[in-house]
Amino acid sequence: MEQKPTNRFAVERGAREDLLHGRRVAFFGGSFDPPHIGHLAVARAARELLRLDEVLFVPVGRQPLKIGLGAAYEDRCAMTRIAIEGEPEFSVSMIDAPHAEDAPNYTAETLEALQGMMSKGGKLFCLMGADSLLALDHWHRGAEIPFLAEVIVASRPGEALEPLGEHLPMGLKLAVEEPEKLENGRLERWKIVDQGGRAALLNILPGLHNEVSATELRTAIQTGRGSEQLMPHAVLAYIHNHGIYT
Ligand code: ATP
Repeated sequence: MEQKPTNRFAVERGAREDLLHGRRVAFFGGSFDPPHIGHLAVARAARELLRLDEVLFVPVGRQPLKIGLGAAYEDRCAMTRIAIEGEPEFSVSMIDAPHAEDAPNYTAETLEALQGMMSKGGKLFCLMGADSLLALDHWHRGAEIPFLAEVIVASRPGEALEPLGEHLPMGLKLAVEEPEKLENGRLERWKIVDQGGRAALLNILPGLHNEVSATELRTAIQTGRGSEQLMPHAVLAYIHNHGIYT
């Protein structure tokens, strides 16, 4: 049965789609299984360096490239809501709620839907970690993503982005030899073009070195190892109270 658009497109805390109007908003999609300090560091850095009004944390219903997520969608949304508490510019969106019949959620389609909610004067970004950029070629319509929303890529340990030109999806190339360096080198701005000559900006945040992943955290929780430093305490309490990952 098809889900009602009112549920799928609801933006929580803020709760109204017109909140996206006229604002600089970043879509930040992921499994958030569970959310951790790496996610928060990425969102905070992007908010500061790109002057964002809002970062939308968007737990994905079914990630096309991952099989067997650990926690249920509702728990991942609940944990993400808890993780961003106290951050007025962060909110959780259920725009990527699971589809009927378990069809995968595609970022390109979600960005198109979000663009439809933005008004003139607003600007949509797509925030991701370096591993996501490196995998973009495998995403559904991956080469279109930079033209649907300006991409912001956060560096991640073990995920080297250089030489950047070799890591772009097929059909895309760099239009400059060097990036524009802004904010004392904390923000690098590249220009890329597609085969039709369409140009887009690509922002890199090279200074983030958060050695944390959700995979590592799930294993730590399963084996009873400490993970207190790597996620907000309230998220860990939720995990224990609901018996998730055990
Ligand atoms: P998993 O280990 O299960 O793959 P993850 O830790 O990568 O999970 P996701 O929810 O899949 O977390 O990530 C959502 C987005 O956040 C992705 O674009 C990912 O690249 C980015 N991200 C997650 N952790 C970090 C980190 N430590 N540094 C930079 N980016 C990160």
